[in-house]
Amino acid sequence: MADSDPYMQRTAQEIRALEDAYLFPTYSRYDAVISHGSGAYLYDLEGRRYLDFLAGIAVNSLGYAHPRLVRVLEQQGRRVMHCSNLFYHPYQGALAQRLAGISGMSRVFFTNSGTEAIEGALKIARAFGRQAQRPDKSVILSLKNAFHGRTFGALSITAQEKYQAPFRPLVPDVAWVEALTADALERAFSDRTCALVLEPIQGEGGIIPLPGEFLRAARQLCDEYDALLVMDEIQSGMGRTGRYFAYQHYGVQPDLVTVAKSLAAGYPLGAILGASRIASALKPGEHGTTFGGGPLACRLALEVLDVIEEEGLLDRVSKLGDYLTAGLGELASRHATIREVRGLGLMVGVEIGPAAPDIVAALRRRGILANAAHDTVLRLLPPFIITEEQIDEFLAALDAVLAEL
Ligand code: PLP
Repeated sequence: MADSDPYMQRTAQEIRALEDAYLFPTYSRYDAVISHGSGAYLYDLEGRRYLDFLAGIAVNSLGYAHPRLVRVLEQQGRRVMHCSNLFYHPYQGALAQRLAGISGMSRVFFTNSGTEAIEGALKIARAFGRQAQRPDKSVILSLKNAFHGRTFGALSITAQEKYQAPFRPLVPDVAWVEALTADALERAFSDRTCALVLEPIQGEGGIIPLPGEFLRAARQLCDEYDALLVMDEIQSGMGRTGRYFAYQHYGVQPDLVTVAKSLAAGYPLGAILGASRIASALKPGEHGTTFGGGPLACRLALEVLDVIEEEGLLDRVSKLGDYLTAGLGELASRHATIREVRGLGLMVGVEIGPAAPDIVAALRRRGILANAAHDTVLRLLPPFIITEEQIDEFLAALDAVLAEL
């Protein structure tokens, strides 16, 4: 891509060396140095093209350089990008109204990331317990194999030893539901429970849709014990499963929902959506953020919602999800390596055993991006604008990679 940007003149090797020298070594990155994207394709600095079945980990739902998002970026960049939450602006209330409409919730708090939405939800849960005039109603329940983020609150409800061990002591009054059964749920609840947090489809845990009876029991127990049902839809929400929220497939309504990732489809924005009965749990001054819900982020998210609606993308996601799953089912009938295909819409996991990271690397060599969740699951999160032909291209590449194994 011809470019006068001096940073784009550096070689891939120079760019990698700079990061190695100056960044905390927290990420193990793939080799590619990304230069730009267009539609469902990403390009690296060395001219390779990648068909994207990862979408920036469930973020870029409209692909890259979507003309309507580019137009909003240009216009709003000239108008005002940030003004702080000391002021009103035209887009935050409008976006909150749209999110309330699609979720069945009634109040919204905007954040900058998924983790931060979880942090806020945990504070609301504790504040809700306090409202019940029970100072000890502070226990938050979470599921084994969950992933909710990396800050202290979110990490404290992410029951994975490798993430938690180096950082103990964590936030107190967190307890685990030991299995995905109604019995295990019932054993975990007590009068001290103020909230149960769960992902309706566990993402990082390997694309695991929770059983319907488990979610229904969760709703019932939260009502019985006067606790909040918090659904983390950061990965599964905003249309990825063919409905705006995964819980809408189950017919179970939560009290709090967290979203982020594809909310502004490539620009950082998260949100906590809350039911009317908890609207007054947080008092003025008890929570806040400098950046969350700024004009640029909110206007982008409004445009994303318009595109999803005007272009019928929820139906498209459902149909393409069925197409992808059927193609994977056909591959499974010929390749014993594939043990299970699961998911909803364009949030699909292929249980493929310990070779998953090698398969991801082999796909990348063939110009296809995916990743491995839980080391044994091929995780597929393509943009909503992917086509059947591109899905065929992916399936043919996976077929060839599996044949080589
Ligand atoms: N919750 C879920 C379900 C996620 O998938 C993630 C990120 O992968 C998070 C929370 C954390 O979000 P973020 O990385 O934006 O902080």
